[in-house]
Order: sequence, then structure tokens, then C-alpha cells
Amino acid sequence: MTVSIVKFDGSLESIGRAIELCGGFDKLDKNDRVLIKPNITFGGWIAIPPYGMVTTSKMVEGILWKLAEHGCNDISIGEGTILGVLGSNTRRGFSQTGINRVAKRYGAKLIDLNDGPFDYKNLGGIKVGISKIALDADFLINVPVLKTHAQVKVSLGFKNLKGCLEVASRKAFHMKGLEHLICLLNQSLESDLTIIDGIYMLEKGPDAMIGVARRKNLIIASRDAFACDCVGATILGFEPSQIAYLREYAQLNNRPMDVNAFQIEGERLELLKEKLMWEVNSGEELFEFAGITGLSVPHPGQHICSGCYANLAYSLGLFGKVNPNLNLGDTRIYSGRNGVSQVTGQRIILYGNCAIQSNNKTNHTVSIAGCPPKTMSTLFFVMRTLLSKPRMFKAILFGSPQLLALRAGIYSGNLPKWRLYRLPEFDKSHFREPRYQGISRVFSKWRE
Ligand code: SF4
Repeated sequence: MTVSIVKFDGSLESIGRAIELCGGFDKLDKNDRVLIKPNITFGGWIAIPPYGMVTTSKMVEGILWKLAEHGCNDISIGEGTILGVLGSNTRRGFSQTGINRVAKRYGAKLIDLNDGPFDYKNLGGIKVGISKIALDADFLINVPVLKTHAQVKVSLGFKNLKGCLEVASRKAFHMKGLEHLICLLNQSLESDLTIIDGIYMLEKGPDAMIGVARRKNLIIASRDAFACDCVGATILGFEPSQIAYLREYAQLNNRPMDVNAFQIEGERLELLKEKLMWEVNSGEELFEFAGITGLSVPHPGQHICSGCYANLAYSLGLFGKVNPNLNLGDTRIYSGRNGVSQVTGQRIILYGNCAIQSNNKTNHTVSIAGCPPKTMSTLFFVMRTLLSKPRMFKAILFGSPQLLALRAGIYSGNLPKWRLYRLPEFDKSHFREPRYQGISRVFSKWRE
């Protein structure tokens, strides 16, 4: 099966060309019920830079335009964002990415897959709730982003289908073998066409709090989701065999993993290869700009969900911004299913129910419960635990207006590293500005 690689030149036609080159609509009947599954991981009350993290509305528009040309008129766009993080929900995600506006223009329905209904399937001995809407679609178009992932190395088409799961099943994936279950999910729910949105790519993904985006201007498409992911992984700098869920899928389905075995149309793959980093050290990444020492956040590998990970990362990023140049002695924050090996004199913080259940509390341990703990509670907990009383009161006194503005969605709590996204190569029109972003920018400038 063919994989097309096309340069995105800013036009909808270049997206259409990627679809045509791989014969993307060859099996599509104009009366089919089409479901587009973008990757909108997050839609909260702050605007995290979307570049390389979520699917552009430009890519979705190109697909809708091509579907309209094909005569399709039963089109839905379905996603289920993470919940419990900075007020994240799917409707807000559609709105912040501008996908709601392009959907309206082309008459496509917007569906929050988190609302269900779900069909329950047994994947590797685990009962997993999969969106019935995704399972029942006649033609599923999977539109992930070209990004790396701190837990599974790359997050492309295979991984994007995890957004079709019931929230409880997503959490279970992290505790019961993430890579194995991603492989099995793609055996049960197959994409008819995968289009990787490579207008931007993300190093140290999957989020822009720690990750860093770059412009790449690529569209990678195929009716063969496996081949498409292998090509995407290669562009990001991995041998497909390094990606465990692709390796297992290849073994189960007797598929070659050598990209030379695929028919590639368009650009030359060899000239597009990058070497992106995927592993992260959350503590270093979040504090390097703030001069904070003595605090480490060991990464729990695959045993943490996006909810805990994002709330903690964002709270620590903000903490570092408003409390620079602190020495916190020897403090460690454990999250997810992460076993603690405590050394005398260390202060241990257990973050979230999983960390609490996986470890015995000791005299030197404090904890915050929740699955995941709420964002505001996390922020106050971090300040209360890491700061002296006078410093905490000062931080609350001077930080309260920003916290209120943050909660109201008119201030994004810009992290210093996000200045990168003011460069002209990061084009907001690929997403459309959220309503309050202009106000937020003015507020941020005043803060700096
Ligand atoms: S506590 Fe955190 S890591 Fe554990 S299941 Fe809940 S959200 Fe996931």
C-alpha cells in the first residue's frame, strides 16, 4: 500500500494532493458515514501553545474540503480530550483549535467521544470501552500530529486512537501495559485513512509544556495505518522496530518493518529524517530557566496518565516562574505508579492516588490525593509544601490576581520557553486565535 509524503505549502490543495497520491478515498463511498479523529489532547482554560501538540484546523479543513469534493455529506469530527486538567474538555478543544469553525463551514458534526456510548471489548484480558461512534463509522480518518512521546517514543496514528476510549479505559492502559494495549486497540479499531499532520513536529512530546515544536511543513498519508506510522516514526528519527507497539503489530500481522518495503510517493523520505529526542527529565525541563535546585521529579515511565502528568507539570512550571532561584534541599516528587526508594534526609512528595497506593507513607512524606488531583489544589499544594510560610503568603498575595485571571481563562501563565512561539514560523492562522488570546498576550507582556 502507498504512503504519500507531500510538502505543505499553505494551501488546501497540498492536503488534497497527499490524499490523492496515496489513493486515500479509493474505498470511500459518498454516502458513507465519515468520522474524522483529530488529536486534540487538551482544551483547558489556559491556552497552551498548540504547535506540534494538537491537530491544526488547517489540516482538518483540507480534509473536509476534499470530502466535500468527493460528495460526502455525513461527516463527523470526534475527539475526547483529557479531563480534570485545567478545566479541559472536548468542546473547548474544538473551539481553541478553530476546528469548530471549519466544521460549521463544511456542515460537519462535532462529537465529544467522552460522552459515549461505548462498546466493551476484551483486549488482552482487560475490558476496554471503545467509542461506538468510532467503531460504527463507515470510514475513519485518523489525523494525528507528527510528535514524539515521553512514554512510547512516538505518538502518531496508532496512539491517536486512544482518544476513542472511555476515560477509565485510558487510565487502565497506563497501568496494564500501554504499548501492548495500543497494539491490540489497533487490531479492534482500524483506521481507513491516516493523515499525519506534520505542519509542526514536537520534540520531547506529547505536550508543549515540556516539548518544543518546530515547523516541518509535511503531510504524510496512507490507507495503511501501520505503514503511515512507520514512515512518520522514521521522519522523527526512529527505526520503526524501536517502537514497541509497531513491532508487536508487525509480528502479529506478519508485516515487514523496513520502510523500503513500502511504496512511497511524493517527497524523498531520506531527505526528511530528523533526530528528535523523546525522553524527558520533567524537573530539569521545567526549572532550567528558573534557577531552582534541589528538586527532582523522577519520570514514572508508562505508569502515569496524562491527567496527573499535565497537572503536575503545569503547576511546577508556574511555580518555577513565580519563585525563581530557590534551593529546595533534596526534595523528590513521585507520581503515577512510581516506587520510592527514600534516602535519609530526603523530603518525599507523593502526587496522586497511584503514587500514594504504591508507596508507604513515611515521616518525611507528604501527599496529595486525587485521580488526578485538581489543578488549583495542586498549585496551592506545591506552594504550601515547597515554600516557607512568609514566602508562600507573599506568593499568594502577589500571585492571586494572576491565579484569578488564569482561572477566568484570560491569562495563560506564559512560561518563558513559550517565547519561541512568537517567531513568524509559528502561524496562528493554522489554528485560529481563541477569543481571549489577545487579552492574554497584553497581560503577559505587562507581567514581563
Ligand atoms: S492517580 Fe493519576 S496516574 Fe493514577 S490512575 Fe489517576 S490519573 Fe492516572
